[in-house]
Amino acid sequence: MPLLPPASCNLKGDINTMEFSLNKEQLLIQKIAQEFAEKYLEPLADTIDRENKTPEEIMKGLAELDLFGLPFKEEYGGAEAGYDCYVLAMEQLGKVSSGPAIAISVNCLGLGAIDKFGTEEQKMKYMPKACKGEYMASFAFTEPVTGSDPKQITSTAVKKGNHYIINGTKRFITNANYPGPMVLFAADSESGKPTAFIVDKFCEGYSVSKPWEKIGYHGGELLDVYFKDVQVPSENILGKAGGGFPVLTYGIAFGKVGISSIALGGILACYEEAVKYAKEKTHRGEPIAKFQAIQLRIADLAMKYESCRWLTYRLGYLANDAKNQAVFAKEAALTKTFVCETFADAVRIAVDVHGSYGLMADYKVSRLYRDAIMGPQVEGVADMQKMIVAGIVLNS
Ligand SMILES: Cc1cc2nc3c(=O)[nH]c(=O)nc-3n(C[C@H](O)[C@H](O)[C@H](O)COP(=O)(O)OP(=O)(O)OC[C@H]3O[C@@H](n4cnc5c(N)ncnc54)[C@H](O)[C@@H]3O)c2cc1C
Repeated sequence: MPLLPPASCNLKGDINTMEFSLNKEQLLIQKIAQEFAEKYLEPLADTIDRENKTPEEIMKGLAELDLFGLPFKEEYGGAEAGYDCYVLAMEQLGKVSSGPAIAISVNCLGLGAIDKFGTEEQKMKYMPKACKGEYMASFAFTEPVTGSDPKQITSTAVKKGNHYIINGTKRFITNANYPGPMVLFAADSESGKPTAFIVDKFCEGYSVSKPWEKIGYHGGELLDVYFKDVQVPSENILGKAGGGFPVLTYGIAFGKVGISSIALGGILACYEEAVKYAKEKTHRGEPIAKFQAIQLRIADLAMKYESCRWLTYRLGYLANDAKNQAVFAKEAALTKTFVCETFADAVRIAVDVHGSYGLMADYKVSRLYRDAIMGPQVEGVADMQKMIVAGIVLNS
């Protein structure tokens, strides 16, 4: 049930032009993701939600479609389709089941940081397998004390010859239970500032907690990670020693492309579920869609989806050529906050259309409700994102 003809802006167009149609490649990738999501993911979506586990065959299927490394260059194992195609694919997955989409989004977040800040050797070593789904990348900043303030991190990296010895605890880390590279932030002993390291998960001294029981985003597991005297060679520093801050802010901005797209898919699902229910549910023999109050809610959902769609597609376009790090970080913060907060508003409306049925596990909107509350908190809480936006706006 497309909201409007399946169109979007020409995301690869010149920045000074304004074209609103998908090119062939974008349409193809959108269709591939949509077909996979509808054919394979949809029938399992409730099971994934209930069991909080994504079946291996789903992850394999997504990998076969090259969805793990969509934006990255072919020489690093990616599909080289750009972030414009990535948003279209992630929207389709997010519409059906958020968990597997989150796992891919965080994989691309870790890889995005390696792609932007890594040496040629680091890219060749870590990206190809993660782009093909044999590895899953992680990005580990949050600690028990903070997920917002880099100055407060307590994980340490003490230099010893050509190595660093890492100790600390990272909290709420996605994909921590899959092998692959982890971009990890720790204060190094020389600068005292956060430094980003690439750590091979499951190396000696690496261990994980059991998964957290979160209320939404089921299917993508979240664990704490313990580092006990983990030895990392100096060549695994990502960027420069003491230079973790730009890796964090710029790297995580690329993660927000994925989170925004998944939330966009959630808004589309809210719209579709509300329209379907409004036409099916009858009062006195007529569908509730005849009530003006229901019509206004449907219009609100359509407006919310359309506004978020263009903002998210635009972010994908900007991510393809994000040369100015501060400006891109602002655009990503702005988009992620608006789209995730709008998803939370939209799902409330969709539940209202359903009445009490919307509160029942049998109805998809109840799952969407639990997913929608996650977005404003992850990859930077909403208030901190607004502070990033205000900082750029007021200081330029
Ligand atoms: C599903 C899920 C997946 C996640 N995946 C990852 C992952 O892969 N890697 C990772 O590193 N983390 C991950 N996280 C953690 C998440 O990114 C952090 O929890 C989040 O950034 C917020 O950090 P916090 O919970 O410590 O909140 P805090 O930083 O403690 O913030 C709490 C409150 O205080 C406010 N606040 C904090 N500082 C300030 C300030 N200076 N001024 C004003 N207000 C302030 C915040 O706005 C917020 O309202 C994940 C979390 C979830 C739920």
